[in-house]
Amino acid sequence: MDKRFKLIRCRLLLPLDEKIGLETRIEDGYVLTENDLIREVGAFSREAAERIIRDHGGELRVIGAAAEGKPTAGAIPMLDAVVLPGFVKGHGHDHESPIIGVAKDEPLTAWLDHAVNAFTGFLLEKGDELKSVFGASPHLITYAKARLDDIYYGITSALTHHCNFNKYNIADLIEANLRAGTRIVIAVGSQDRNYDPRILDTPAKAVGRLEEYRSRFQGVERVKIIPGPDQVFSNSEEMLRALKQWSLDHDTLMHIHSSEEPATTRWFYRKYKMSPVQQLHRAGVLDKNAILAHQVNNTPIDLEILEATGAAVIHNPLANTILGSGMPPIIEMMERGIPVAVSTDGSGSADNQDMIAAARLASQYQKARRRDAKVLPAQKVLEMVTVVPAKILRINAGSLAPGRSADLIAVDLSRPNLTPTRKDNVIENLIWAADGSEVRWVIASGRILKDDYRFVTLDEAKLKEQVLKLSEMMMEYKAGLAEVRVTGARSEEGPAGT
Ligand SMILES: [Zn+2]
Repeated sequence: MDKRFKLIRCRLLLPLDEKIGLETRIEDGYVLTENDLIREVGAFSREAAERIIRDHGGELRVIGAAAEGKPTAGAIPMLDAVVLPGFVKGHGHDHESPIIGVAKDEPLTAWLDHAVNAFTGFLLEKGDELKSVFGASPHLITYAKARLDDIYYGITSALTHHCNFNKYNIADLIEANLRAGTRIVIAVGSQDRNYDPRILDTPAKAVGRLEEYRSRFQGVERVKIIPGPDQVFSNSEEMLRALKQWSLDHDTLMHIHSSEEPATTRWFYRKYKMSPVQQLHRAGVLDKNAILAHQVNNTPIDLEILEATGAAVIHNPLANTILGSGMPPIIEMMERGIPVAVSTDGSGSADNQDMIAAARLASQYQKARRRDAKVLPAQKVLEMVTVVPAKILRINAGSLAPGRSADLIAVDLSRPNLTPTRKDNVIENLIWAADGSEVRWVIASGRILKDDYRFVTLDEAKLKEQVLKLSEMMMEYKAGLAEVRVTGARSEEGPAGT
């Protein structure tokens, strides 16, 4: 049985908390959690251990020690690890977990058709057959694998943009998250133009879907539902206005892909005589509760609008570089006070969910681009995958402090690539030397999801086997398919020849 209190003692501790001090690094630190919240954070001492055991000993689980029996103050193991908040992913897609490595060396819109739309179309068409093969919903398998990937890399909270065909399958996503023990913000997709006619909405239909999901799933633990129109090019101003009104009525965030790559943005400009940001602004979408994924291409007016409205940007350097989309001017954005977090995007375009790799690339790219080694130091990009996205997503996580959600990870410092790690270089080593696979313990909402590298809540072996089979079937289906071409921004009116 899971115990009410958990104590983790570690060689190094990074609270990443504004009150404690964002740059505070504690040697021989500890975190005590009670149920789903953090109760204490600080430097470990024999006195603290005796007090904690005296007060809670019977209900205390010490991480790294035997799960059974009452712990003793003199035998609290100090893990050779750095403990920090669980990563907060500001933009991803759980439906992409089986399509890593598919349609590579292609730009965004072709990749959307050849990887994402091919796969989600496959699930739509072959759903019943797949259900009988697997004895379970293929969507549930896909989403559970995405949760497994997140836990693997230490992501305890994620915004999952549930767009295109997936907007119909929210129950499976919620079920996968409940089983996994993570926290998700679901941005429910919609589109009413320039996309696959099979899934086009009207504003009333899209709002009705949100209303239905809200009434069915409001109150489900660790889940929030917000509007997530897929793209600006696939949602009319009328649609955007209707969704924004719903978001205002229910005090939610709103999320959308915006200005992801130059060709699509140019296409948009030609067709609508304004930038996607200008259209979002005209539709009244942009304010402190608006979160834009990417925002790679920016006119000076776009940056002024973002600065004036307070909208946040989620930067996805892995996806942006793999798809050849370009990189957004995040330093200029941050100088203007625009909130910017770093994320991975879905597994299909980023091909992994390694938040450390994303943070490293964000820093590395900007240092080279600006020929200035001082920009985006390790401390800053670590904040951009923890405390900053937690604020943007309005969740009580991303920092280790009393009263925060008990979401933390322990990164193994005994690995050769992380030796030697000390107090003075621990954050630098996390960003520059870690490969992301050193996450040894993951605790979310006070529950252990990964225990000494072992997944606790999900069946790793079964999920891997199922996803491999699912991907093989999808590739077979795709081989017999005429070319998929449903992404409107690459239609005849699209950017050909530009
Ligand atoms: Zn995306």
